[in-house]
Amino acid sequence: MAQARNSKYDFDLFTIGAGSGGVAGSRRAAAYGAKVGICENSRVGGTCVIRGCVPKKLLVYGAQVADEIADARGYGWDIGQATFSWPTLIANKNREIDRLNGIYIKMLADAGVELITGEGRMVDAHTVDIGGRRVTAERILIATGGHPVMPDTPGIEHAITSNEALELAELPKRVVVVGAGYIAVEFAGIFLTLGAEVTLVLRGDIPLRGFDMDVRQHLAQELTERGMRILNGTLVESIAKAAGGLHVTLNDGQVISCDQILYATGRVPNTRNLGLQEVGVKTDDVGAVLVDEWSRTSVENIYAVGDVTDKHNLTPVAIAEARALAETLYNDNPTKFDPHLISTAVFSQPPVATVGLAEHQAREGGKPVDIYRSIFRPMHNTLSGRKEKTLMKLVVDRESDRVLGCHMVGPDAAEIMQGLAIAMQCGATKKQFDRTVGIHPTAAEEFVTMR
Ligand code: NDP
Repeated sequence: MAQARNSKYDFDLFTIGAGSGGVAGSRRAAAYGAKVGICENSRVGGTCVIRGCVPKKLLVYGAQVADEIADARGYGWDIGQATFSWPTLIANKNREIDRLNGIYIKMLADAGVELITGEGRMVDAHTVDIGGRRVTAERILIATGGHPVMPDTPGIEHAITSNEALELAELPKRVVVVGAGYIAVEFAGIFLTLGAEVTLVLRGDIPLRGFDMDVRQHLAQELTERGMRILNGTLVESIAKAAGGLHVTLNDGQVISCDQILYATGRVPNTRNLGLQEVGVKTDDVGAVLVDEWSRTSVENIYAVGDVTDKHNLTPVAIAEARALAETLYNDNPTKFDPHLISTAVFSQPPVATVGLAEHQAREGGKPVDIYRSIFRPMHNTLSGRKEKTLMKLVVDRESDRVLGCHMVGPDAAEIMQGLAIAMQCGATKKQFDRTVGIHPTAAEEFVTMR
């Protein structure tokens, strides 16, 4: 293993947290010759791999099979009485997560990054204590991610978060989901599509605050048509254990019986017990580490990336920030992560994907924009008899003709949006979209034929 460049320290870089950001930054720094160590108090892979994006997407795939089975008859298939085993799906998902966990550990080893198991706590600006073992480093990278947070509602101990939802021994028959962000609509969709009775309880009026209003309305309508009960403007007052399940009392006096109540009411940074105060790393009022555009904290040699900074809580952002930092520190190539045009998807059923500005954002400041919107029944749904419609929307700057935002609700939205994100990075105009020859017959071609 390489010697630290600065022989005063054990490591050139020591990373706290082996999730997506921490692993990516550590490997990149090591590839440039730095001596790197990393500690992790849970499983290598972090939220995304172990208890977030990846296991969730596997369950989404599992749920989509139910749709495919329902659609099969119209295409001439008689598959008899299909049965579903939640324990099998969870066991197979766990096997895949174990495999990925092993790959991540191996990737660190192959890169020459020393992995230390245990919780890291900074004792001074160059020293990290991991369960009694002290290591020193010229620089420290904080990449500890975040965790779900629940309000202080009476009976909240009966509720689960997405962490436990991924490990349930059986599929609940009746589920209440509280919240209306990414995680709420994704898990509500998984449970609903797999056959559970799902009630979504949200304090606002419509899911996915911040997204384009057409997207939100279209999704809410399709979720309702799929059978999800959406209770807006509603708060949970208390949760109590009752015979045969849970009783959830709402602020309108209604009591809902269910088997599980899942809170998806946001996530907060993992900054407790890190020694931030002791070493002088400043945080904001939710505990997020404050960083500048170079991922620098208020202490010169300490950096932070990913969800612990609570900026754009997305895996690819954490990875990009971490790699940019390694470029800057160890490859003599000052690189900043560019936060513009971050494309994102919500793996609800139907899924949502978006890049660029929502209509309300584009209209801020009074700039004239043109809106192109198409709502259609995708060809796949004709023979299957599925009523669900797809929404596509473009937000275009009238003066420059630049496409400012692309939005979609419908099958394959995430797969389609990735290509559009590249077009937008290139500054595509609506005319260039129009000049693009569509791939026929696809749903995606609608993005280049909207008038
Ligand atoms: P979000 O912050 O997206 O949503 C939190 C939701 O909970 C909002 O609807 C909010 O309502 C509601 N809420 C907050 N507090 C309360 C309360 N006390 N009572 C009732 N409702 C409440 O958090 P998520 O947990 O869904 O996701 C966390 C982050 O993880 C996201 O920001 C996202 O970046 C990331 N993520 C990304 C995914 C992806 O890329 N596909 C998937 C999953 C997560 P209101 O809107 O009124 O504030």
